[in-house]
Amino acid sequence: MNELWDQLKAVVGSRGYREEDGIDIKNYRDYQGDRQIRPRILLRPESTEEVSKIMKFCHQAGQAIAPQGGMTGLVSAAAPMEGEIALSFDRMNQIIELDPLTATITVEAGAPLQAVQEHAAKNGFLFPLDLGARGSCTIGGNLSTNAGGNRVIRYGMMRDLVLGVEAVLADGTIINGLHKLTKNNTGYDLKHLFIGTEGTLGIITRAVLKLSSQPRSQLLAFCGLKNFDAVAQLLVHMKSNLGGNLCAFEVIWQEAYQLLDLIESVKKPLPDEHGFYVLVESMGSSAKEDKTQFDNALESAFAANLLEDAVVSHSSAEVKDLWLIRDGLPEVPSKVGAMHSYDISLAVGDMGYFGNEVTARLRKRWSNCILALFGHIGDGNLHIIIHVGPDTVALHQEIDQIVYELTRELHGSISAEHGIGIMKRDFLHYSRSSEEIALMKMLKQTIDPKGILSPGRVVEI
Ligand code: ZN
Repeated sequence: MNELWDQLKAVVGSRGYREEDGIDIKNYRDYQGDRQIRPRILLRPESTEEVSKIMKFCHQAGQAIAPQGGMTGLVSAAAPMEGEIALSFDRMNQIIELDPLTATITVEAGAPLQAVQEHAAKNGFLFPLDLGARGSCTIGGNLSTNAGGNRVIRYGMMRDLVLGVEAVLADGTIINGLHKLTKNNTGYDLKHLFIGTEGTLGIITRAVLKLSSQPRSQLLAFCGLKNFDAVAQLLVHMKSNLGGNLCAFEVIWQEAYQLLDLIESVKKPLPDEHGFYVLVESMGSSAKEDKTQFDNALESAFAANLLEDAVVSHSSAEVKDLWLIRDGLPEVPSKVGAMHSYDISLAVGDMGYFGNEVTARLRKRWSNCILALFGHIGDGNLHIIIHVGPDTVALHQEIDQIVYELTRELHGSISAEHGIGIMKRDFLHYSRSSEEIALMKMLKQTIDPKGILSPGRVVEI
């Protein structure tokens, strides 16, 4: 085994690895608090060729490896397990090229999402993927988890924002699928083996991403509504009135809105009395016309009795403040204490029922439980944070059972945008058939026969 460590160190050179105390805790602590196992070595390759050589040696030795991005994932996937070595992309963080003619940007896997957004903006483009962890998360992590976030309703998930991917297989083979072609029906679209598969079928090293044009207007309204029926109708109303300009439709249930009192950065623009709160965002290419369209859409929503109250942004500072309301919700757990967070998908028509029913089932078991429901309702994606008291594994499993059972009853998905990792693996069959899971295992066994790439994540072989 010592031979392997020497081989790996020789591949990356003296700056390309860390050992023992030299490994920062952020490279092995699970964000969800599941584990904290310091790996024997943290490798920091500088190029795809180095990643390929690392995998060749690991494959020969049967050494398991845990690739990592910004370590902000929410399903306990990236932190190494016992005996695994960690592979960081912090030295592969370059933006290689922005091509204005094809509106693409080519980047290395370790490039932080925010750096890509800023580089695109500086050149008059928009890279539309956006999520709270933008400053720390990386494009490689976004791709391997098929990240979603706040603007999926208009621009899609990470899978929709990529043209070509370069990846390294378990045995070190480099699959170079980097291209800028929108249309490319030449057989299997192999990039999807690596997107959303959480590092289990290959390690993404570089990617060509799609850019959109920079919008010239950004308009936001924060609305108070009576019930979920009105929320669902407002979504239909906004889709039809704003068309392609609708780029966020975020909903906050009343109890979650009340919990925002705990977050200092949040300035609440409406009182707590409404049943639901909706953040509607429009972005378009004509500042004047977009404003008229947005005002008309709100006016007609009032006229149709969909809204009880609304405030509208008048400046970029107000836009920022309104977004801080939504962005404050993931901070609630740090104020309340141990909370379990969930990320599910449902048909929009089922969401009102789901909210009432999940609250009733949880309160039946824990009458004082704290519950915050919110989400990207325009995409059918609901987040729930739940606090029932001091945390234990048994308690966690009991809450999982209640939330996922109800999700299954409604034919929803137990993971909308966070992935499966280790945390949701035992519930995968709630949302996928046994035939689908068997095919996933067949792919895993074929592409990674020794089971060295992120073993135990998504499916257990
Ligand atoms: Zn989300």
